[in-house]
Amino acid sequence: MKQTMNPGQGIYSDIFPADRLDIFRSIIQKSHKITIVTHYDADGDAIGSSLALFHYLNKVGNFNIQVLTPNDYPTFLHWLPSHTEVKSYDKNPDEVETFVKQSDLVVYVDFNTLSRLKRLQGVFETITATQILIDHHPNPDIPCHLCFSNTRPSSTSEIIYYLIEALNDKTLLNKEIAECLFTGIMTDTGCFSFNSSLPETWQAVAELLRHQIDKDSIFSQVYENYSDSRMRLMGFCLNEKMKVIPEFNTAFISLSLEELRKFHFEPGDTEGFVNLTFSVNGIRVTALFIERDDHIKISLRSKGNIAINQIAKDHFNGGGHRNAAGGESILNMEDTISKFTSLLKVYEKELRQTVD
Ligand code: 5GP
Ligand code: MN
Repeated sequence: MKQTMNPGQGIYSDIFPADRLDIFRSIIQKSHKITIVTHYDADGDAIGSSLALFHYLNKVGNFNIQVLTPNDYPTFLHWLPSHTEVKSYDKNPDEVETFVKQSDLVVYVDFNTLSRLKRLQGVFETITATQILIDHHPNPDIPCHLCFSNTRPSSTSEIIYYLIEALNDKTLLNKEIAECLFTGIMTDTGCFSFNSSLPETWQAVAELLRHQIDKDSIFSQVYENYSDSRMRLMGFCLNEKMKVIPEFNTAFISLSLEELRKFHFEPGDTEGFVNLTFSVNGIRVTALFIERDDHIKISLRSKGNIAINQIAKDHFNGGGHRNAAGGESILNMEDTISKFTSLLKVYEKELRQTVD
């Protein structure tokens, strides 16, 4: 890393003040064993930003780096450069725990609260390593020595792109880093359909495209790589499980464990289902309820000024972004859905507004 100070570009300059970039440089210089960890049920941004950081740090110095996930991540990401370097805690608990405890630096990527690590949370609660957070969720509450967190960028991948730029290390960008970052931005914006109104997002993408990445192939690997049973599950959801509540401009889908089993569910198969019902005219809030062994996993999405993360936080022990959030319920499916629909009455005023 060059020592010239560059406080970042344009509207993101507040994320990368010169003093924080200096702290980043000095932490990295002192580190040997580095853990990069992302959230449970990792998505394209979680894995893309983690692996991009892995590749970047490997260009900057000679480190022993481990990328960690709490559980398996979808197979449609199993082509990302160095994806075999990612270890899941579920599959390698002892090895992961030992590595984390020996690390002198831990970088938390794409999440804002340790509870999103689920079973892996305890391992990080007692560590003494230096800790850095790089994330785009609101209100981060992980105690860290350094935090690059802001909700304006589309994704953590976009933040990492601008971090590399702010560190004056754009010359280190290569095809591997660009593929990882492009995948993260593409998936967190639903293929540039949401969270992508800022020119900075497109500027980052334009730069990434200069590194010989094959955008069409990346799209295909991520979105045209499902099993036929996943497509049938999607059809089943739309045909038989979609409920529309027109008076509240809301639609939702629920899936039981039995239904998931019937369609040979694999991690990632329900990715994007929560957005499907936005295609119905007038819908401003969507939900997806998925039965897990001991709880219901809830995904929530909203349009415009409806702060769906507040609903996730207040009622479903969760959180997230203003328009994309999630949480959990320990009630059964029927009671969880009743709770959700009765909450709609509380938010009636916002929900009844016409689509903006
Ligand atoms: P998804 O619906 O795709 O699982 O999650 C969408 C967003 O909601 C995530 O990026 C994350 O910010 C948030 N989220 C999802 N599940 C949880 C949860 O259980 N707890 C918290 N705090 N946030 C969640
Ligand atoms: Mn993200």
